[in-house]
Amino acid sequence: MRLDGLRVLVAGAGAIGSATALRLQLDGARTILADPAALGDNASGVAAGMLAPAFEAALDAASAGHFPLLADARDLWPAFAARLEALGGAIDRSGALWVGEDEASNAAMLIRLQARGARSAALTSAQAQALSPGLAAPAGAILAADDWRLEAGRMLLAMDRAFRDLGGERLQTALRRIEPGAAILEGGAKVAVDHVVIATGMSPHGLAEPPPELSRLEPIKGQIARIEAAGPRGGPVVRAPGVYVVPGEQGCLIGATMEAGRPDRAVEPETLDRLRGLAAPLFPALEGAPVAGAAGVRASTPDALPLVGPSSRSGVTLALGARRNGWLLAPLLAEIVRAQLAGASPPVWAAGLDPLRRFSPPA
Ligand SMILES: Cc1cc2nc3c(=O)[nH]c(=O)nc-3n(C[C@H](O)[C@H](O)[C@H](O)COP(=O)(O)OP(=O)(O)OC[C@H]3O[C@@H](n4cnc5c(N)ncnc54)[C@H](O)[C@@H]3O)c2cc1C
Repeated sequence: MRLDGLRVLVAGAGAIGSATALRLQLDGARTILADPAALGDNASGVAAGMLAPAFEAALDAASAGHFPLLADARDLWPAFAARLEALGGAIDRSGALWVGEDEASNAAMLIRLQARGARSAALTSAQAQALSPGLAAPAGAILAADDWRLEAGRMLLAMDRAFRDLGGERLQTALRRIEPGAAILEGGAKVAVDHVVIATGMSPHGLAEPPPELSRLEPIKGQIARIEAAGPRGGPVVRAPGVYVVPGEQGCLIGATMEAGRPDRAVEPETLDRLRGLAAPLFPALEGAPVAGAAGVRASTPDALPLVGPSSRSGVTLALGARRNGWLLAPLLAEIVRAQLAGASPPVWAAGLDPLRRFSPPA
């Protein structure tokens, strides 16, 4: 069951729209990916790129019960990224370390990870330092092998390149209106399509009459610091209370704030200083190092799970609302959209992510 010849317009070229457009194009659809923003000028472009089922389930209360879903989503990445590696979109499988304040914090984290179903192991201080050069001697650490990572900017570039190499069409413009059998773009251009996928993250800028399901989305702003001059260049992500440090060849990322209700992307220098201050006890070389930063807006739903599948509006599919895990979930959401458009059975998780599901009132 392929999509040969199906004309699809995907609105939004973040992690989710880009993965979906690529997946549909691979399956034979004639796909247009429309986004007015420059590549990476969105939440996906500033994200830390962690594919982290273990620590997301352990640290984000709203995701506590989601480890099996998040781990299955992570498992789709190697096959999805196979063709992207040669284009610069590699996956790093070094795992992630928890470095608590003391042995009791580490022991509690080990129990918490194991309760979620995540593989985890206690390390001595020397073992942790061997994995993560530059790490200050900790009181031991916990290694979660289930968590991987990618470099967001590079993966967006790789997906864009792969999509266009397959004949996909990328337009730097916004979707303004959806009509039966057509998408109306900024400036009034009318494109004949069989289907529209809305992957516009927190807000579909300028879209007339957005599908009603989007009213369930709430913004959570995230600021993240980048330090080029110091910090780990490789090895595992390091997590500690209130902070994480993600190694990168061009410098490390220190994240991130969770500012519920804020839809703006302003970067506050004092927030970047605070993030660096939280990371410096882990990596002393970060103390006083020049810090830059960025901000993005995550879209969240009342149950912290994305909306993916048919909207109540005919001919429209949604793929958004992935909160803190848009990168982790992108191949899964892409596969759900592909299967549903092809009339095939989607992955089992699709039922729980149905945009028309009822959300329980808060307890
Ligand atoms: C600081 C921070 C750190 C994060 N770290 C991680 C992490 O480590 N791992 C992880 O999995 N997730 C992480 N996330 C979450 C992740 O970034 C999001 O879940 C993900 O980026 C959402 O992707 P998206 O494609 O839905 O939306 P976005 O990346 O926001 O992209 C939406 C796109 O839609 C476009 N658009 C809007 N309106 C229109 C329109 N009318 N027509 C066409 N296009 C339109 C926008 O221009 C934008 O480019 C982080 C987020 C932040 C802010």
